[in-house]
Amino acid sequence: MVMQATRKTGVAPQANDTRALEAAAATRMLVAERILDYSGHVSIRIPGQDAFVIQIGSNSRAEVEPESMLVVDFDGKVLEGRGQPPSEIPIHIEILKARPDVQAVLHSHMELAIAFTMMEGVTLQPMRARASRWKSGIPTDPDPSHIKTKEQGRALAKTLGPHHAVLMRAHGLTLVAESAQALFIDAVHFKENATAQMQALQAGTKPLPLTDGEIEQIEKMEMRDWHIQKLWNYYVRKGLKEGVLPDEWGAPLIPSADMLTRDRTY
Ligand SMILES: [Zn+2]
Repeated sequence: MVMQATRKTGVAPQANDTRALEAAAATRMLVAERILDYSGHVSIRIPGQDAFVIQIGSNSRAEVEPESMLVVDFDGKVLEGRGQPPSEIPIHIEILKARPDVQAVLHSHMELAIAFTMMEGVTLQPMRARASRWKSGIPTDPDPSHIKTKEQGRALAKTLGPHHAVLMRAHGLTLVAESAQALFIDAVHFKENATAQMQALQAGTKPLPLTDGEIEQIEKMEMRDWHIQKLWNYYVRKGLKEGVLPDEWGAPLIPSADMLTRDRTY
């Protein structure tokens, strides 16, 4: 996509190269962490434009390359690149339109997330400390079909509202975050949290989610930006070591020493 795309859209080539690389890396690492599989996708907004970077729908999530990423506008039109975007692209379009604060969107068919849309009287709640991210709630969208129309996308964005996650009945979930890195780390923690609640349920006990007071205490100690860089560093290095990511992706993806330095200590 890259050189031509950037000439046409007027965005600095390097910026869109970075977005495509981060989307590709996040996608491959999400596959490695069993959060994505043959379906699901990551999008990254191109700031200042009604457009975003997303993969070709039919490309394997395990082998996605930055060079094959598409630039797509809010009408679903491919501005750059060759190929068709995912069929559920209205998820990304309508959420990016409705939520200017969101820079990156993940749609996944994570099995654990789906399980929490299938249990009567059970609501997925913040259990583990890192799940304070979802303190405002995790709503469930009632539409169990794939999101292929503008109307469905709008309804999903409405259900998401101001929250950071939305479950999709019998189908999956969508997460939103401020960057590709944050989105990936949130996905890892979302799965950990759903696992924790499921384990409590499977133990036959009543889960004890975080209380408001506990969430307040957790947030006092929170260093989200640094935490994201720390985990991104871990997962990128793990991906390189295990061959999930090509060696040449390491230099542009690994955070600098400055980014890994906390601005405060406890
Ligand atoms: Zn889906």
